Amino acid sequence: MNYDDNCIFCKIGRKEITSAIVYEDDEVLAFLDVNPVSKGHTLVVTKEHFKNFNEVPKNLISKVFSVAQMISQAQIMELHAAGCNILTNINEAAGQTVMHFHVHVIPRYDQTDGFNLDFTPKAIGTFNLPIVAGDLKKGLSVSYTHLRAHETRHDLV
Ligand code: 5GP
Ligand code: ZN
Repeated sequence: MNYDDNCIFCKIGRKEITSAIVYEDDEVLAFLDVNPVSKGHTLVVTKEHFKNFNEVPKNLISKVFSVAQMISQAQIMELHAAGCNILTNINEAAGQTVMHFHVHVIPRYDQTDGFNLDFTPKAIGTFNLPIVAGDLKKGLSVSYTHLRAHETRHDLV
């Protein structure tokens, strides 16, 4: 299992650093953010060290988001949140500060609860959408090939 000695979330996963844990199984851990945006702000992580969302095997991504869904439901039922934002930052350009994959599950109470995500939409026609879609599809076929290769290897072991 990948582990990084200098990674704060690896240390939390191994209980070398304490955290307020709300869910745990063999592969996934969820704990409260030490600097929460709102009451109940939770981080869901893989116990294994992966740098970010794009590096995580697909079976683990499913497990993490399944746990994130349960936490969101609990935030609404038990903390009486009015809603929830779920996000994961990939790389510094997107605001990632801890380089161990994690999903933020942020309960929302009202417009002044501390969360602010600002979309500034561009005008229709700013980008040539068929060309952009074509470029993305080229990338998807590479990912799909990679996935099939991974599954094949997995089948062999
Ligand atoms: P990022 O900006 O990388 O998406 O989010 C990292 C999050 O981890 C931040 O919201 C930050 O408050 C939280 N965090 C950083 N160090 C610790 C820690 O030692 N314990 C806990 N519980 N949360 C942490
Ligand atoms: Zn780590």
